[in-house]
Amino acid sequence: MTIRKIGVIGAGQMGNGIAHTCALAGYEVGLNDISTEQIEEGLATINGNLARQCKSGRITEEQRSSAIDLIKPIDSYDKFGDYDLVIETAVEDESVKRKIFAELCPHLRDDTIIGSNTSSISITRLAASTDRPEHFMGVHFMNPVPVMELVELIRGIATDDGTFNKVREFVKTLDKTVAVAEDFPAFIVNRILLPMINEAVYTLYEGVGSVEAIDTAMRLGARHPMGPLELADFIGLDTCLSVMQVLYEGLADTKYRPCPLLVKYVEAGWLGRKTNRGFYDYRGETPVPTR
Ligand code: NAD
Repeated sequence: MTIRKIGVIGAGQMGNGIAHTCALAGYEVGLNDISTEQIEEGLATINGNLARQCKSGRITEEQRSSAIDLIKPIDSYDKFGDYDLVIETAVEDESVKRKIFAELCPHLRDDTIIGSNTSSISITRLAASTDRPEHFMGVHFMNPVPVMELVELIRGIATDDGTFNKVREFVKTLDKTVAVAEDFPAFIVNRILLPMINEAVYTLYEGVGSVEAIDTAMRLGARHPMGPLELADFIGLDTCLSVMQVLYEGLADTKYRPCPLLVKYVEAGWLGRKTNRGFYDYRGETPVPTR
């Protein structure tokens, strides 16, 4: 089986980026989400992002319009019946992902590969909730997908070599570089990145610095392109909290305890850029720190 048709489940910031990137590489893409409105929102974002890339000269008008033609909305899983690879990128909640796999699997061909874009959840455990653990693996894209070069690939305990090699070849055709990670909580990038972000939130919580001071310190003092709180808003504070919870529970070490202030922001629904408010308020012309 050669990968030609890619299904994407979840049309949020990662899902629309994955669909966009796959279509630009010439794959047929089916985009699904929990409601038709969410799918339409995802498609509108892709249209806007492709138009911006075209305007700035990074892609041609021809590439833009052929990418758009390659992406189709998918409103039910039975339409994934002739797809080669389906990438799940719904919210970072294990019960939601398990429910998606339970409903999706009966509609797929036996050899269809399922990839999960989870930031932290055990691939082996997710695979075990499907009818095809050998054709299941982690395919962890970075945000924003069209820009970021890395894709982490994670094998579950049962992932077979054929599946792994096909997905690795597929990722190369997207012009991305692979880093292979073992299946331990949060893999490589988030195992290192999220505790740093959580520590930045503790630094704010304990009054060591303001939002502005913390971000300026890390941008200019450690040469990070974005401050950690700005980055947390960009990732989504709900995703950051879920990853910390997976690290805390999965590694049973108090050093991964999610900061209570991060919990409070999530409980307030201040999830960062996607809700227009997080450690910064994005409703005006320029972001304003919320603390
Ligand atoms: P998001 O909140 O932008 O999007 C999540 C989407 O999932 C929403 O559109 C929501 O409607 C949809 N959804 C919820 N339940 C669903 C269901 N049952 N069926 C189909 N769709 C459903 O989140 P995101 O940032 O795109 O994250 C998605 C996944 O990607 C998560 O697993 C996250 O950990 C992972 N991820 C995120 C980042 C990041 O920086 N944000 C980076 C890498 C990986």
